[in-house]
Amino acid sequence: METLRRHVSGSVFEPGEPGFAELATPWNVAVRTSPAAVVAVSTAQDVAEAVLFAAANGLLVAVQATGHGIASDHDGALLIHTRALEECTINPEGWARTGAGVTWKTVLAATAAHGLAGLCGLAPNVSVAGYTSGGGIGPMVRTFGAASDRVRAFDAVTGDGRLRRVTAESEPELFWGLRGGKSSLGIITATEFDLLQLPYIYAGALFFDTGHVDAVTRAWAQWCPTLPAEATTSLALMQLPPMPGVPEPLAGKFTVALRFVFTGSEDDGARWLAPMRSAGVPLIDAVAMMPSSMIGMVHSDPEDPLPATERSALLTDFSTDTVEALLQAAGPGTGSPQLAVEIRQLGGALSQEPDVASALCHRDAAFGMHTVGVAAPPELPAVAEHATGLHTAMNAWQFGGTLPNFSAAQGPEGFTSSYTPQVLDRLTELAGKYDPNALFRLGQVPAR
Ligand SMILES: Cc1cc2nc3c(=O)[nH]c(=O)nc-3n(C[C@H](O)[C@H](O)[C@H](O)COP(=O)(O)OP(=O)(O)OC[C@H]3O[C@@H](n4cnc5c(N)ncnc54)[C@H](O)[C@@H]3O)c2cc1C
Repeated sequence: METLRRHVSGSVFEPGEPGFAELATPWNVAVRTSPAAVVAVSTAQDVAEAVLFAAANGLLVAVQATGHGIASDHDGALLIHTRALEECTINPEGWARTGAGVTWKTVLAATAAHGLAGLCGLAPNVSVAGYTSGGGIGPMVRTFGAASDRVRAFDAVTGDGRLRRVTAESEPELFWGLRGGKSSLGIITATEFDLLQLPYIYAGALFFDTGHVDAVTRAWAQWCPTLPAEATTSLALMQLPPMPGVPEPLAGKFTVALRFVFTGSEDDGARWLAPMRSAGVPLIDAVAMMPSSMIGMVHSDPEDPLPATERSALLTDFSTDTVEALLQAAGPGTGSPQLAVEIRQLGGALSQEPDVASALCHRDAAFGMHTVGVAAPPELPAVAEHATGLHTAMNAWQFGGTLPNFSAAQGPEGFTSSYTPQVLDRLTELAGKYDPNALFRLGQVPAR
């Protein structure tokens, strides 16, 4: 570790040293990891030095920016912490360059002044690099596709310790694999991506009380297929505890939240949303025109760290029978222990392959399903068991795969389920070429 300290301009923390625990603790505090050391890099060259050091010393390499999607198998690895790579350059012509530690929150604050927007996720405090490496399926995905479809270039360090400029022309294989392949081929040190000319959106959420959950869910299922690609929506069965930040009308109750983002005019947005506004009496109606930089308010996901246990699936359909299966397994009165069971409508622009192909798979799934529960004992076994039961109840509509941002953290099995066999084979082959010592294999490309 002294050698590594001499070679990096950032800092190296070993277990027990002040700073280690803070950096090694992910956002999801239910995930416990014990890396051999944390390198808080301050330059891209530091990343290259850390990778070379790991190769020379028989260590595996993991990467963390915010810890929103960290896998639990980092024990003994060298953890590269990127939060100090904080360059955020907004080009008013419509593109940005961000260091690997930059979150969407920073990007949105910086783009607002230019009337520009980025394709962030529903929680803007995840990093651009980590999010984009897994595709990036956000609250405008049906209109503009995945975030990885808008990437112009990466700077990335591959497993041989080389810092490379990765574009479709300069490194076509890496450009394909870094967009969707998570960190299996390299560690991104900077991302350059297109922004959208989109100062305002018509967006927000409608919340309905327990007595309306079934009717609203049924109405939502029938409404979704009518929507144009300018609209992206999701529905969440919610059981929020009474705690600071949870609005009083929602606290301690079973409610349903309908999220809606429309990129056209206010009038058109209101017209499309009208059938759902009348599907029940909303407890809260928070859908209105807003600056696109405030898109995080649509889902209002918690910003503070949580002990969460999550499970994801993709669905072929969300029809009448699917709704009934969902409500029977996770609706009001079922005793579901989940904080949220979310169904996201996919399709639209997501289902179109970008001009330059990428490793992101399963674009033709119709819906995504995601459960979130509190992971701490004593709830943990009940939450996990219920999630398994719910997934079994939805078997008839399982698409048969997942998306990497929602499952790569579940270890090799989750990672594998994110790809078709062909894409997995290609990623594995490229990992053999660009990561010859298999340094990046943690929770990623299966054993080679
Ligand atoms: C509350 C919440 C909401 C979310 N909403 C969405 C959503 O709407 N859409 C969506 O697509 N995803 C969503 N996610 C998933 C999230 O995008 C992924 O977990 C993502 O990996 C987080 O990136 P991070 O760098 O912030 O997290 P970290 O935990 O720091 O990193 C997670 C993983 O990302 C990869 N990674 C991180 N940095 C780099 C890098 N520099 N180079 C290469 N790979 C890297 C690595 O595989 C790493 O293990 C959500 C997650 C949470 C917890």
